Amino acid sequence: MNDDLLRKLNTCIQCGTCIASCFSGRVTALNTRKIIMEYIAKGRPVKDDDTIWFCVTCYACQERCPRGIPITDTILEARKELVREKGLPGRLKYAFKFLMEQTAYVPAREEHVKLREEFGLPLYHSQFVDEAREEVSEIVRRHIGGVVR
Ligand code: SF4
Ligand code: SF4
Repeated sequence: MNDDLLRKLNTCIQCGTCIASCFSGRVTALNTRKIIMEYIAKGRPVKDDDTIWFCVTCYACQERCPRGIPITDTILEARKELVREKGLPGRLKYAFKFLMEQTAYVPAREEHVKLREEFGLPLYHSQFVDEAREEVSEIVRRHIGGVVR
């Protein structure tokens, strides 16, 4: 985190407007203020807290923060740091792995593949033309292949 951002975070007055504005926090364990507080305390995002991925980047907190703290931008920076260190979190990692290898976020189930074969139907994956499949795999590999681990 750069000094400029840390200075801004340190102007937080703990008013709770961010957490009260957070639509995702109403239905998930996301606690915006806690993430900001821990970031200030440690100067880096907390590694074992995956709730940061529940942020849907709606920017409501950032728009309403009375201190003009770039909260959503900070969350995005924190996510980048975490991905650089740990790779993508659980489900996202598998989604991109499948996309890279099979051009599908959710791979076809084996029994469905067999059934389709029996009925002479094309595989789900063949819904993509070969060139598009290779292109999608290449794009994912080139841009985020390094963090799908
Ligand atoms: S809205 Fe801004 S000032 Fe208030 S707790 Fe959240 S980050 Fe701090
Ligand atoms: S940007 Fe993220 S943390 Fe902020 S209100 Fe929206 S979902 Fe919540």
